[in-house]
Amino acid sequence: MSPPAARLPAVDRVLGCAELAPLLAAHGATRTTAAVRARLQRLRERLLAGDAPEAELALPAIAAAVAAALAAEDQPRLRAVFNCTGTVLHTNLGRALLPDAAVQAVVQALTAPANLEYDLATGGRGDRDDVVDDLLRELTGAEAATVVNNNAAAVLLMLSSLAPRKEVIVSRGELVEIGGAFRIPDIMARAGAKLVEVGTTNRTHARDYEGAIGTRTALLMKVHCSNYAVEGFTASVAESEVARIAHAHGLPLAVDLGSGTLADLAAHGLPRETTVRETVAAGADVVSFSGDKLLGGPQAGLIVGRQDLIAKIKQNPLKRALRVGKLTLAALEPVLRLYREPEHLAARLPTLRLFTRPQAEIRAAAERLRSPLQAALGEAATVEVVALSSQIGSGALPVDTLPSAGLLLRPAGKRSGRALARLEEALRGLPRPVIGRIADGALWLDLRCIEAADEAAFVAQFGTLAEALGTPR
Ligand SMILES: *Cc1c(COP(=O)(O)O)cnc(C)c1O
Repeated sequence: MSPPAARLPAVDRVLGCAELAPLLAAHGATRTTAAVRARLQRLRERLLAGDAPEAELALPAIAAAVAAALAAEDQPRLRAVFNCTGTVLHTNLGRALLPDAAVQAVVQALTAPANLEYDLATGGRGDRDDVVDDLLRELTGAEAATVVNNNAAAVLLMLSSLAPRKEVIVSRGELVEIGGAFRIPDIMARAGAKLVEVGTTNRTHARDYEGAIGTRTALLMKVHCSNYAVEGFTASVAESEVARIAHAHGLPLAVDLGSGTLADLAAHGLPRETTVRETVAAGADVVSFSGDKLLGGPQAGLIVGRQDLIAKIKQNPLKRALRVGKLTLAALEPVLRLYREPEHLAARLPTLRLFTRPQAEIRAAAERLRSPLQAALGEAATVEVVALSSQIGSGALPVDTLPSAGLLLRPAGKRSGRALARLEEALRGLPRPVIGRIADGALWLDLRCIEAADEAAFVAQFGTLAEALGTPR
């Protein structure tokens, strides 16, 4: 009897077979040979374990398996998904979607040299912050501006530049933790500043700030309660009042606005949120905020404020370590430009367009999608149109919700817990994964972020669902 491995073809025989020719042409000899070897090794192990059906040892079968393995390897890790979570700015799904003008600008920055740090007026060296400096000053009323990698970096840089080895006074009600390990006390420590907590979790008064100011104080700081609300018997001191106290002692006030918005959201029928301009006008000396939250731009941390303080921040060696790349600046500039024409903002800025999408329109989409989805799911689940509440997300306006609509998928039959998990997994396994939310024994798909242009692609891929779930239609 020949040893099991002798039944395997040699690597060269596999590489020489007709079915391998297109793979060799597409991927080259190095990678194709490695994939063939890996497949043969896998078959060898299975033969030794007494588990390799004869059919899989044939050359065409081996070639097909190699083709599948190569295709699987080529599937990008970063993939487009459908966001049906009901959270518009979902940090795990990449937050804000950018307008077409930003996409075009990024493509250009990727494919042509640009005057990133080159002053076209003088022919001398430029500063990359200049790409957005005047827009940020115009939109916020601040004297100066700078940009870094994200708002966490902006806060780190502000503290490290303005309060090294000095004290920073913050209310106990504002010592926030943002998802992904951003905690104000930890950032403070890393920045080399000493946190001085004042007040209590629910109440902080002007006299608390006054009483904590000493010779070692460098900065007073306010942090936006991004992802929570303190309700009930509460008191906090307004930015303008903290600014007055700081200035009376010759100290600056720094504000971490978190999301930060440049537009009057109430004018768009959304919950009110203090704008960056209002924060600057209230007396804040430096203000930091995110590029990819309410602003609707690329990941970035923006700092605006007093000329002398921004100059100090820009001189910090950490600024170089935290600086943004040209793709970020390319995307940020056209997004900021949209804010100069507030009448067009809701139509042109995807984030605001999604926030302001009327419930009736989302419901109409749900009505259109219900029956094709039900047909695709067959007996595996029932599909219902339901009213839902979307969230803004990313810690912006945590307690406010947006009236929305969507589809409720309920698996049929008993043992529906297992069936629900399989259904959720099947949607996640689609070519463009559909990410919903499991609650109350059902899968909820909020359709706020599935716009008219996405509907055809959304529906088309449901055709394969019934097979994936192994149920008759
Ligand atoms: C989101 C947030 C941050 C972090 O911003 P990123 O841009 O995600 O780094 C910092 N502070 C507050 C108050 C926030 O809401």
